[in-house]
Amino acid sequence: MSKPLGHVEAPAARNAAVPGRGYLELSASGRSQWIRERRAPRPTFDVRIPHRAFVELERSAAGELLPTLTVLLRSRECPWHCLMCDLWKSTVSHPIPPGAVPAQIDAALTRQATSAYGRVRQIKLYNSGSFFDAGAVPPSDYHAIARCLAGFERVIVECHPKLVNRRALQFRASLFESPPPPERAAIAWRRAAVIPQLEVALGLETVHPAALDRLNKRMTLDDFRRAADFLRAHQIALRVFVLVQPPFVPEDEALEWVERSLNCAFECGATAVSIIPTRLGNGALDDLARTTRFSPPKLQTLESAFDRGLALSRGRVFADLWDIDRFSSCPTCLPARRERLSAMNLQQTVTPPIRCAACGHAAHR
Ligand code: SF4
Ligand SMILES: [Zn+2]
Repeated sequence: MSKPLGHVEAPAARNAAVPGRGYLELSASGRSQWIRERRAPRPTFDVRIPHRAFVELERSAAGELLPTLTVLLRSRECPWHCLMCDLWKSTVSHPIPPGAVPAQIDAALTRQATSAYGRVRQIKLYNSGSFFDAGAVPPSDYHAIARCLAGFERVIVECHPKLVNRRALQFRASLFESPPPPERAAIAWRRAAVIPQLEVALGLETVHPAALDRLNKRMTLDDFRRAADFLRAHQIALRVFVLVQPPFVPEDEALEWVERSLNCAFECGATAVSIIPTRLGNGALDDLARTTRFSPPKLQTLESAFDRGLALSRGRVFADLWDIDRFSSCPTCLPARRERLSAMNLQQTVTPPIRCAACGHAAHR
């Protein structure tokens, strides 16, 4: 007989920390401890070298395809411990010293000085936590960071909704006040003399109230709305992350809750929403998958969620395709299905599904 969702039996070796208690019965701090206990050890990292940097195309609100540099910054571990988060794997446990983040951005810009897509026009600085967390990005570095960013048309950073505050304004002011150093002006693809528009990406995750609470994000929908209102009041653009089939959302309601979450994000002023399939691999979710009815979404669920999101016609919706292979059970149709989603990200229109004789996907449509 299947166990009720949310009933979690901790493995015997871990019972010492939470004897006889399931995840849902724990306090917020107990849940954080439960989640942390299931993490694998991580190596130490040099915080002056970014985790990754790559250029890809992204469709703008105006319909242009913008060459976009994403820099995955090496950062201090996020102070929150969300049940589904695996970003801690690339972080360090100590505060980031002044100078390290500008050095990382500089290294990424040097590495990506040329782009197959032409001049890079927007940059995402994703730091596996909150850009406006002073332990992750020292505010004393804002001007140095802004000097690196001169010439980009748009700068996108991520942040927990509870840390959206005057630091966002301080950073935005730095973007206005910081001319590029002379050596940067010589880089051809960044010659344009523009002041970047700031965009902040917030994780809404889901509007399912019980699931949102159980994800241990320690955020309510009112917290999210307050952060969105703050950004709108200061003309800072909003991007939103929404999870596809997170734990504690019944599998047969997954699509409905994605759609509700998308509607909430757009009502809050989102210019773009990324839908992210909930992934195993952080220890805690793997434990949930073993001991409850939680399972990650199938590729079909992501596809259907994306179709529904685009059909809303309320703004750009992007499907996160990172590690998409792990949601597929059919190697025959996976390449074509990945290609279809990638094209839909750029075109922002729904295209016909890929039919597959091997697994029967969409065979009867
Ligand atoms: S707030 Fe974001 S980075 Fe921090 S633990 Fe939650 S999902 Fe991960
Ligand atoms: Zn197939």
